[in-house]
Amino acid sequence: LGSSLQDALEKVAGRSRIDEEAVEEVVRDIQRALLQADVDVSLVNDLSDSIRERALNEEPPAGTSAREHVLRIVYEEMVAVVGDATEFELEEQTILLAGLQGSGKTTTSAKMARWFSRKGLRPAIVQTDTFRPGAYEQSKEMADRAEVPFYGDPDSEDPVGIAREGMAEFEDRDVVIVDTAGRHALEDELVAEIEDIESVVDPDMSLLVLDASIGQSAGEQADAFDEAVGVDGVVITKLDGTAKGGGALTAVDQTDSSIAFIGTGEEVSDVERFDPDGFISRLLGMGDIRALVDRVEEAMEESDVDEEELDPEKLLSGDFTLRDVYKQMEAMGSMGRLDQVMDMIPGMGGMGDLKDEMPDDFAEVTEQRLDTYRAVMDSMTDEELDNPSRVGASEVRRVARGSGTSEEDVRELLEYYNTMERTMSQLGGGRDMERMMKKMS
Ligand code: GDP
Ligand code: MG
Repeated sequence: LGSSLQDALEKVAGRSRIDEEAVEEVVRDIQRALLQADVDVSLVNDLSDSIRERALNEEPPAGTSAREHVLRIVYEEMVAVVGDATEFELEEQTILLAGLQGSGKTTTSAKMARWFSRKGLRPAIVQTDTFRPGAYEQSKEMADRAEVPFYGDPDSEDPVGIAREGMAEFEDRDVVIVDTAGRHALEDELVAEIEDIESVVDPDMSLLVLDASIGQSAGEQADAFDEAVGVDGVVITKLDGTAKGGGALTAVDQTDSSIAFIGTGEEVSDVERFDPDGFISRLLGMGDIRALVDRVEEAMEESDVDEEELDPEKLLSGDFTLRDVYKQMEAMGSMGRLDQVMDMIPGMGGMGDLKDEMPDDFAEVTEQRLDTYRAVMDSMTDEELDNPSRVGASEVRRVARGSGTSEEDVRELLEYYNTMERTMSQLGGGRDMERMMKKMS
């Protein structure tokens, strides 16, 4: 999927002028990606219209390619819908969590409490769920794991009473997170209950908790909860699963709110503030540039790769030698698995075939492997390092013997060089790659 969008963008790239057909192809691929990610049909249509209209009518700014122009428009239109993360003041506040049963409210309450306490605030949790058996125990356990105080009453059948008592109990805490009961489906009873709790608690913020796999029913839920308590933000849970969370966009769109947090696991630490860039990349099935840049920067801080050494211009000009391969591997090696790094580079994520061509275990650039390659390169002549294509079978044998490595090792390095060289020339015009290389350098 990512690769088909990539293909379509490549086609735009190949044209000097942006024509309707090329734009249509990109729009179709984006539609497919978004629908598969559970984004609401009418939202997809609205997005398509704006992308189409802008791509054809706006002049690409000087110095930008047709591909960049379209990609930027797609990105900007997506940002306009997705929005920034819901803002939280780091001050006293009460937060109400609403959502259907199993959406992840109780887990989220503990995660958020932990998040606030790591920000230096003193949070507490009030559990008002008297509907679900075991809700009290579950909530208590999660609160313990998050190391935050908790209030609930396993014997009560009065959620509003618990809410009132809990608020009194935690009068001196900075942030009170009020967890509520859900039902399997939207029911009048649920809506009435949460309205009552809301009026007692008087929250500064009400968050709607949605399972990432929620599809087209997100709109209906969002409307109902918005009417009942006013939705100020959305939490998407279970994004560690396969779902892409497009339903949350509908909720955000309809409640005119934003996404606050995402849940990425069952542990209290498995929570992240919402990152629009990453989310958009995910919806579109494209590489996550932000994550890449972060990791590149982190890696550069840790590694001692000489800033001067990795020259992006050179890497992209096709004047790419084995010496560059070594520097590149050194940089990537400190970032983790090479195939994962490649997935995060826009334009490379879709190059599945290129990745398939890489030697099987190459993905992991280990220290040991770097040592082997260093030895191989030390045994090569300057001529061979600058022109790897001239290294034939007899040279491979000589180098292997001279470096104490195997012919296999030497060939593997040459094979990797060829793959990288081809990738560089295919991506030659790609600004994303250039930018990423600049980051690395
Ligand atoms: P509630 O009924 O809305 O309170 O939902 P719970 O907090 O009890 O969560 C329902 C189930 O989903 C539990 O088994 C949780 O462990 C699980 N869960 C919640 N959030 C996440 C998440 O971000 N990732 C994963 N994998 N599981 C989650
Ligand atoms: Mg619960």
